[in-house]
Amino acid sequence: MSDEAVILVIEDEVPMRRFLRALVAGHGLRVVEAASGEEGIALAASHAPDVILLDLGLPGVDGLEVTRRIREWSETPIIVISARGLEEDKVRALDLGADDYLTKPFGASELLARLRVALRHAGRRAAEGADPRFVLGDLEVDLAARVVRVRGEEVHLTPIEYRLLALLVRHAGRVLTHRHFLREIWGPGASGQDHYVRVHMSQLRRKIEEDPAQPRYVITETGVGYRLRTDA
Ligand code: CA
Repeated sequence: MSDEAVILVIEDEVPMRRFLRALVAGHGLRVVEAASGEEGIALAASHAPDVILLDLGLPGVDGLEVTRRIREWSETPIIVISARGLEEDKVRALDLGADDYLTKPFGASELLARLRVALRHAGRRAAEGADPRFVLGDLEVDLAARVVRVRGEEVHLTPIEYRLLALLVRHAGRVLTHRHFLREIWGPGASGQDHYVRVHMSQLRRKIEEDPAQPRYVITETGVGYRLRTDA
């Protein structure tokens, strides 16, 4: 991780803020803290953080509203933090432009993995021309040549299966919601047709996963969407 990276933590609960600060600051990252949504929006503007860790359960301006407001002018990756069982809030935050989420309680390694992915995407946004070749275990995706290989053998995907996979690759490590897939691949008319995504994802898995029932590459995030792993 970059030594210079600044992480803005927006969280009203003092013990949680202290926990996050301890985890993040222990890894050479600078932490800026906000105790409310209003303060968080102000610090996002004044400190230009590299990543924002945002608790959804804030008094006053809540996390969803903070996401909406920050997305009006900033593309800084936002990782939302929420309680287990609040899948709808996570989906809403992701659809408003948040990049990822963490479910309480989470451990240091999970938090750091999410931060690493977010920082990488932040760097990619700044630096044009990412590597078009993606390799994960036995899976190889060449976005420039539009070729997918498993154990060196070319796999033939339908156009929709390819677009699902390419979208996952471009956002590797991040969760993508059903709505995100529908919007990007089928367009606005397909809104609400989550089963399109499930059907084609299951066909894609049959072609790229060794055991589609125990997927190694594309992970299901129950009630939210799918995530392509970055290590397998
Ligand atoms: Ca809270």
